[in-house]
Amino acid sequence: MQIPIAKPFIGEEEKQAVIQVLSSGSLTSGPKVAEFEKAFAAYHGAKHGVATSNGTTALMAAMMAHDIGPGDEVIIPSFSFFATASCVLSTGATPVFADIDPDTYCLSPEAAEAAITPRTKAIMPVHLYGLPADMPRFQAICEKHGLVLLEDAAQGHGSAIGERRVGTWGTASFSFYPTKNMTTTEGGMVLTNDDEIARKLRMIRAQGMNTQYYHEVVGYNFRMTDMAAAIGLVQLGRLPDWTCSRVGNGNFYNQHLESVKTPKVPEGYTHVYHQYTVRVPDGVERDAVTKRLNERGVGVRVYYPLPIHKQPVFQQRDGYKSVTLPETEKATLQVFSIPVFPSLTDEERAYVAQEINAAC
Ligand SMILES: *Cc1c(COP(=O)(O)O)cnc(C)c1O
Repeated sequence: MQIPIAKPFIGEEEKQAVIQVLSSGSLTSGPKVAEFEKAFAAYHGAKHGVATSNGTTALMAAMMAHDIGPGDEVIIPSFSFFATASCVLSTGATPVFADIDPDTYCLSPEAAEAAITPRTKAIMPVHLYGLPADMPRFQAICEKHGLVLLEDAAQGHGSAIGERRVGTWGTASFSFYPTKNMTTTEGGMVLTNDDEIARKLRMIRAQGMNTQYYHEVVGYNFRMTDMAAAIGLVQLGRLPDWTCSRVGNGNFYNQHLESVKTPKVPEGYTHVYHQYTVRVPDGVERDAVTKRLNERGVGVRVYYPLPIHKQPVFQQRDGYKSVTLPETEKATLQVFSIPVFPSLTDEERAYVAQEINAAC
């Protein structure tokens, strides 16, 4: 067997939707983008959706809409994809890394609060692997200290705490990259309940214009195309079923994996298993296990093998060489993710579980 780590799905409906857009003559942002924004925001229970060219530009636009810039600090986890930090750098602000909760792998509220200084402007937890960060705690911390709450929800489509989905606590950025829980090929979206932030996001996305050729703020071209939005509308329709399949696969692994630590899902949380990530016990060499599994046809990956603060980009900058984040650094050596995509068959997941139990 050869089982990949991810298997994006594009069906006949997506293809037809793209052809329809091309035939309509709408070659950039148009009615499909507006329709997709409304539908994606409504699915999460947020007031506004602003679609962008990708998840990275969604994050950048969110930073700019909150006037984050030079002199400001933004507290983020180091255990994430690099864009979580590069969007802060892109504004001239300073990323401040705080450690994770070792059970959920998400930013620790205590560590984040301890990292607050007079320069702190915002906190941005990441819903890592599809598990919401502890948003009620982050909301309370941000209210207490007068900080902006952001969400890197690039991996969190549809995940929730109780009935409340991510994207409704703070200004939240999503990605529709092919391996995410739904795709538009490249694409992103910012959700917000704040009318003024939504207005600024729309300007930043399109050259800072409020009316054509009058530039109110510095903006860029972060637009999504109608072709991408048309794919997104079809994929959003498939998302509830796909999430059920991911959760079903996750529950199967929870029951069948023996030696590795399985994901912890706090009471009342909906984990959408963008990744199903396990952890080898102390003393087991993770890289030997992942090598063996890949040789046996089980596509496993490490997200992420090097924490962001240890990346060359940060090691060359002042102030980061001395940063130590023990839980982050330990997790990067012990975790690996296994196939959990919706179309994984019963046979395939049984094989994955058997091979993991044999390998470690
Ligand atoms: C995918 C991802 C991004 C970036 O999204 P792109 O669409 O690839 O630009 C940002 N943050 C996290 C946590 C991601 O997983």
